[in-house]
Amino acid sequence: MSKPQFDTVALIGIGLIGSSISHGIRRSGLARRITGYAKTEATRNTARRLGLVDEAFNSAADAAEGADLVILCVPVGACGAVAAEMAGKLKQGAILTDVGSVKGAVVRDVGPNVPEGVHFVPGHPIAGTEHSGPESGFAELFDGRWCILTPPSGADDGAVERLKAFWEALGSHVEIMAPDHHDMVLAITSHVPHLIAFNIVNTAAHLERVTASEVIKFSAGGFRDFTRIAASDPTMWRDVFLNNKSAVIEMLGRFTEDLTALQRAIRFDDGDMLFRLFGEARELRRGIIQAGQDTAAADFGRPHGPAQAAASVPSKKAGGG
Ligand code: NAP
Repeated sequence: MSKPQFDTVALIGIGLIGSSISHGIRRSGLARRITGYAKTEATRNTARRLGLVDEAFNSAADAAEGADLVILCVPVGACGAVAAEMAGKLKQGAILTDVGSVKGAVVRDVGPNVPEGVHFVPGHPIAGTEHSGPESGFAELFDGRWCILTPPSGADDGAVERLKAFWEALGSHVEIMAPDHHDMVLAITSHVPHLIAFNIVNTAAHLERVTASEVIKFSAGGFRDFTRIAASDPTMWRDVFLNNKSAVIEMLGRFTEDLTALQRAIRFDDGDMLFRLFGEARELRRGIIQAGQDTAAADFGRPHGPAQAAASVPSKKAGGG
């Protein structure tokens, strides 16, 4: 157990990410007290029952009042309004951060609502699963994963260092980046892959000559992995695409051109080209495993056999937004 880094941490939103941060804080004793805000009474009650927060509020401003570290863990599209509501209650010297999957839009929407004397340091843990809500969190979610911080120019160095130390204590590696660069990188590594998953699952579901039961019954490994990603929260992902429009459209353009090249290679029996491109992709997968960002175990390390399957925790470290 480490020495508390903060007296009070306020979790504004207690879903997958908020609850995982709470478990991580409790695991290492990083705060003396955790307050929380959730939109619905059901989530507030669950958070109290699971001990995720010491006090749950139905107002973000009340939850944030007096906290030393305030973390916005709500969908990207809600960050601006929630920050505006809290502005008058934020403590002088407090650090305000977020976990949103898009950074430019959070800077745009939250930035103008940050009072003088409050340190705003946006962040994004590159860790998640397809599950949501307060019961889906776990302390290990951030272990060995990256957290990107995008401090605005002129941000207080001490505040950036304290937030970096907090994420490291939660188990993450931390990298500092400009918001626009973050949005471009995440568009290709996370946002477009989710869009492809949503699309391929719906394409299969809408096929007229294949029944829904056949799609389920004969779902092969590749398709099953897409369905897992496509099970992610619709609100969160709607907000990601509406708020990272230009980077996603740019990456989709490149993706479409590359897909057309593959289509052409298939049409004209260009086996050499297919073999070369598939080999390059396989190399990239090896790089991800060597970097410790995924397991080399068959079927992504999923347990097989009834006993193992029963003991398994669903798709930890599944990627996320
Ligand atoms: P989640 O499990 O759905 O939880 C969202 C939380 O925000 C809930 O407490 C919810 O309250 C509250 N909320 C929803 N809409 C709201 C609104 N309009 N105003 C105020 N509060 C609202 O979501 P999550 O997966 O933790 O995602 C939270 C943030 O983390 C998002 O910005 C997302 O981009 C980012 N993120 C997600 C992942 C991932 O894989 N899921 C990974 C990295 C970052 P109720 O429960 O009461 O409705």
